[in-house]
Amino acid sequence: MPSQIERLCAERRIKLTENRKIIARVISDSADHPDVEEVFKRAAKINPSIGIATVYRAVKLFEELGVISRHDFGGKGRARYEKLEGDDHHDHLVDISTDEVHEFFSEELEKLQEKIAREKGFEIVGHRMELYCRPLKSSAVSRKS
Ligand SMILES: [Zn+2]
Repeated sequence: MPSQIERLCAERRIKLTENRKIIARVISDSADHPDVEEVFKRAAKINPSIGIATVYRAVKLFEELGVISRHDFGGKGRARYEKLEGDDHHDHLVDISTDEVHEFFSEELEKLQEKIAREKGFEIVGHRMELYCRPLKSSAVSRKS
């Protein structure tokens, strides 16, 4: 079965080479918002002849085509990627102690954003929410449970 990125490229009549298909699949299968280095490592496991320059070019192409989204969590200058969200919008919580990214969705938050924009005389056409967090001290967590 073609990956979501492959399908979107096909819809846009973009022909993908075998290596680009592998890169598309790696990003489609990754839930952890990998950077280019990480995509390269995963793609090279599938086909060791893939070079990092190929990965950079493919990622740039996918980004330009709008079939993946790019994040610059915390402005660290290390872009990270995920497949396009489509209809399932989510926001991100970044654990600054590990750089791990957690996804979340809050109906309440979405509604609040709509309300704020409306009150200012706007309708929202898109948004990004990134929360930068460190874990609660384990004692605080265990107290809660
Ligand atoms: Zn995400």
